[in-house]
Amino acid sequence: MRRITVFGATGSVGQSALDLVARDAEGYDVVALTGGRNVVQLAADARRLNADLAVTCYPECYKELKDLLADTEVEVAAGPDAIAQAATRPVDWALSAIVGAAGLVPGLEALSHGTTLALANKESLVTAGPLLLGRAKAYGATVLPVDSEHSAVFQALVGEHMAAVERVIITASGGAFRDWPVEKLVTATLAQASSHPNWDMGQRITIDSASMFNKAMELIETKEFFNVSADKIEVLIHRESLIHAMVGFHDGALMAHVGPPDMRHAIGYALHWPERKALPVERLDLAKIGSLTFEAPDDARYPALSIAKRVMAEGGLSGAVFNAAKEHALDGFIAGDIGFLDMSKVVSMTLDKMSSLGGLQNAQITLDNVLETDRLARIYAAETFSQLG
Ligand code: NAD
Ligand code: MG
Repeated sequence: MRRITVFGATGSVGQSALDLVARDAEGYDVVALTGGRNVVQLAADARRLNADLAVTCYPECYKELKDLLADTEVEVAAGPDAIAQAATRPVDWALSAIVGAAGLVPGLEALSHGTTLALANKESLVTAGPLLLGRAKAYGATVLPVDSEHSAVFQALVGEHMAAVERVIITASGGAFRDWPVEKLVTATLAQASSHPNWDMGQRITIDSASMFNKAMELIETKEFFNVSADKIEVLIHRESLIHAMVGFHDGALMAHVGPPDMRHAIGYALHWPERKALPVERLDLAKIGSLTFEAPDDARYPALSIAKRVMAEGGLSGAVFNAAKEHALDGFIAGDIGFLDMSKVVSMTLDKMSSLGGLQNAQITLDNVLETDRLARIYAAETFSQLG
């Protein structure tokens, strides 16, 4: 039996992971499941999978979760510290499917205990890639990518040498507004931005896909995870979302990873790695699909991509600023305080402000520095709301 923990178990990625686990319940010893306000789901999953521990990140949800599990032996805890604490329990495999920078500390904690960490939480790599990967190295722990593009790159690299890699191409569907006239984007509403043409995902990443901030984060994630220079990473619009990434080698070959847009593939690959096991995903009928299309991304439509290039060039703590400002801008858009196009303005203005203060590039990427930078970036991002024209 493999001992596993799932952080962010109630979310879109977390639920896909539990779907795979539940199909082979005998094979897993579920140690901890964590979630947020959806305690009914969390309690139901903890009960059916016989977890040792269920944790909500919200202390105010503790009582409800405790009551829901009163007739079971499942331990219950609440709050961010309890989630970090859950990460110290020994397991063979943990999935980080928390959304946002809140995934960083539990991820670091899991790695410090030598756990193999399957990482969907791209924000922790964007915010503090060198810290996270350095921690893995120091404790002999493995980080496996779960983001579909990064899983695809990882799979294309099996048996290859990084020295032979000429370029890495990550694909993007183009999001909800790919066919909108650019002038109309200013009117985009929350409801319109919250639906994705190909993938069924959490609300935040769906909006990030419409703005292309998701792909912007994935550029940085690619650079951090695979240690490839920014000039070797490309984004390609591929409407069908069937090729997730391609790796180009010095001999001109391109290895493409093709598969259905179903996160259970990437999660399952990380779950069974280094083996491959049968997964309940659709088998593609390529003759029926007929053709695949590719387009270059339009920088005017997707300013987030240029911002990511700037962040990759600046390095240091600018990823932490970028992620925190983006999270704050997204909160603002969801709350109706700022418009769709304002999100990229907020992120740019926050980066400008914090770069002008200096110290971002040369600062050491320690947890304290990252958390302080994250805190300040959210304050500066909030200040920009009143300066938007
Ligand atoms: P989601 O919003 O559906 O779920 C997020 C999970 O994190 C929930 O369990 C929630 O309770 C928990 N959570 C939220 N805030 C938290 C906090 N402050 N502390 C602790 N837990 C918290 O999100 P999702 O779409 O499943 O995405 C999860 C992560 O995976 C994100 O980093 C996302 O970018 C990445 N990802 C998602 C997909 C996808 O298909 N959904 C694909 C690739 C990568
Ligand atoms: Mg992705």
